[in-house]
Amino acid sequence: MDYLTPEQIEELKNLLLQRREEVIQRIQHFVEGDTLKVSSDVGDEVDIADLEMEREKLLRLRERETRYLRKVEYALRKIEEGTYGICESCGEPIGYERLKARPVAIYCIRCKEMLEAQEED
Ligand SMILES: [Zn+2]
Repeated sequence: MDYLTPEQIEELKNLLLQRREEVIQRIQHFVEGDTLKVSSDVGDEVDIADLEMEREKLLRLRERETRYLRKVEYALRKIEEGTYGICESCGEPIGYERLKARPVAIYCIRCKEMLEAQEED
């Protein structure tokens, strides 16, 4: 597997920046929009239990987005430090194709599969 070329790193960086924009927007949407939406949607058919469930769901989604945002920022930091694209477990290149599909990946596919049982990524 080859190390990334400067062009590939540039491309992946743009991809990460784009992801970061999207995630930040989604998180803001959760914070500002959905609380309002939930309360204005209260009608006859919506009871408290549904509202609670809705709120739980939003909280979980927001947590997931926040976790993803941290991964994106971590990846961007690694680009700055010049360690991006290197597997954190075995030190081998992760590979451009895999990074293009999942730019926040920090393990190569082999290590990822090995770690899969312990960690959900
Ligand atoms: Zn590895």
